[in-house]
Amino acid sequence: MPSETLNQFLDENLKELKEQGLYNEINVVEGANGPRITIDGKELINLSSNNYLGLATDERLKEVAKDAVDSHGVGAGAVRTINGTLDVHVKLEEKISEFKGTEAAIAYQSGFNCNMAAISAVMDKNDAILSDELNHASIIDGCRLSKAKILRYNHSDMEDLHQKAKEAKESGQYNKIMVITDGVFSMDGDIAKLPEIVEIAKEFDLITYVDDAHGSGVLGKGAGTVKHFGLQNDIDFQMGTLSKAIGVVGGYVAGKQNLIDWLKVRSRPFLFSTSLSPADVTACTQAIDLLMESTELHDRMWENGDYLKKGLKELGFDIGDSETPITPCVIGEAKATQEFSKRLYEEGVYAKAIVFPTVPKGSGRVRNMPTAAHTKDMLDEALSIYEKVGKEMGLI
Ligand code: PMP
Repeated sequence: MPSETLNQFLDENLKELKEQGLYNEINVVEGANGPRITIDGKELINLSSNNYLGLATDERLKEVAKDAVDSHGVGAGAVRTINGTLDVHVKLEEKISEFKGTEAAIAYQSGFNCNMAAISAVMDKNDAILSDELNHASIIDGCRLSKAKILRYNHSDMEDLHQKAKEAKESGQYNKIMVITDGVFSMDGDIAKLPEIVEIAKEFDLITYVDDAHGSGVLGKGAGTVKHFGLQNDIDFQMGTLSKAIGVVGGYVAGKQNLIDWLKVRSRPFLFSTSLSPADVTACTQAIDLLMESTELHDRMWENGDYLKKGLKELGFDIGDSETPITPCVIGEAKATQEFSKRLYEEGVYAKAIVFPTVPKGSGRVRNMPTAAHTKDMLDEALSIYEKVGKEMGLI
C-alpha cells in the first residue's frame, strides 16, 4: 500500500509549486547536445549548455570512448577501493595533475559529489568555512555535510572576507578555517579575486579551495582560474568538473600528494560509489590532451563569446559585467524574463531564464553560453532573433 502521508505531501506541494509558476518543466533534447538541438521536433540554436569547447560531440572523443568500450567494457564494476580502479582511471588522474600543475589528483563521479566528498573529508564540526554568498549549491551542501561553522561573506567583497577571517581566527574557536569560492561565477561570468583571497589566506592561515567548474577550459589558456593568476602553489584544492569544458562527466580535486592520499581514504563517494565508466574517463583524458596540445577551441570560444556580447550590447541589451564568455542578458522581473525566454524559444533560440531565487529579485536574466562549436552564422541568426523579440517586447 503506498503511504497516504507521502501522497498527500507530494500532491499538495507539487500543486503549490505549479500554482506559483515554480515547477520546472524539463525539456527533452532529441539526439546530441550540440550547438543546434531539437526539442519536440523543433530545431533551436542552443545557448544554454556548459559544453564550452564543443567537446561533448567531438569526433576524437567519441572515437576513443568507443575503443574504451571494446577494450574495457561499459562499466567499472566496483567502487575504486575494491576493484573499480582501472588503469584508465589512474591515467586520467595523472593527466589532470599534469594539466593543473599539481602533485596529484583524484577523480569523482560528478562535480557535485566531488564537492560533497572533498569538503566533508577535511572539515568537521570544530572547523569554520568562509564561503562566498554566491557559491554553487554543491559547495553549500558540502559545507553543510561537514558540520563546520559556515561563515558567508558578501559576494567577492574582500573587506568582508578579511573581517570575517580575522574574527574567526581571533576567536580561537576553530581548529581549521577554510575559504572556498567558485573560480568563475556562473550567473554573471565574473572571476573570483583569487590574488586577494590568497593574501588573506596567508595572513590568517586559511585552507584555500577553488571550484573551477566554469574556469577550467576557459581561463589560463584552458588550465583554469588558478593558472590564470599564476597561483598554482597557493591553492590547496583545485576542484573542477569534467562535465563542462571537458564535455563528458565527472569531477576532480587536484592538489598535493598528501591531500589526494587523504581523500582516497576518507571521502565517502570515492569509497562507497562505483567509479566512472571506462568510456567516460578515456574521453576525459583525450579532451585534456587536446586542451594541452592546442588553444584552438579555447580561442574560438572566446571569439564567439566576444562576438555575441558585442552584438547584444549594440542591440541595446544589458549584458552585465561578465569577464568570461558567459553572457547574461538582464531583463529584470521574473515574469518578463520567462516571457522573453519563451518568445526566443518560439523563434528558434534556446536560452534559459534564470530568476529568483537563483539570482536576486529584479535581476532575472536569460543566460547565454556561446561555445567553440557555434558558427558565426548561428550567432548572427540568434542575434536577429534577439533583436526581433527585444523590439516586440519593448526591451530595446
Ligand atoms: N560547481 C559549480 C560551480 C557548478 O556550476 C556545477 C554544475 N552546475 C558543479 C559544481 C557540479 O558539477 P557537475 O555538473 O559536474 O556535477
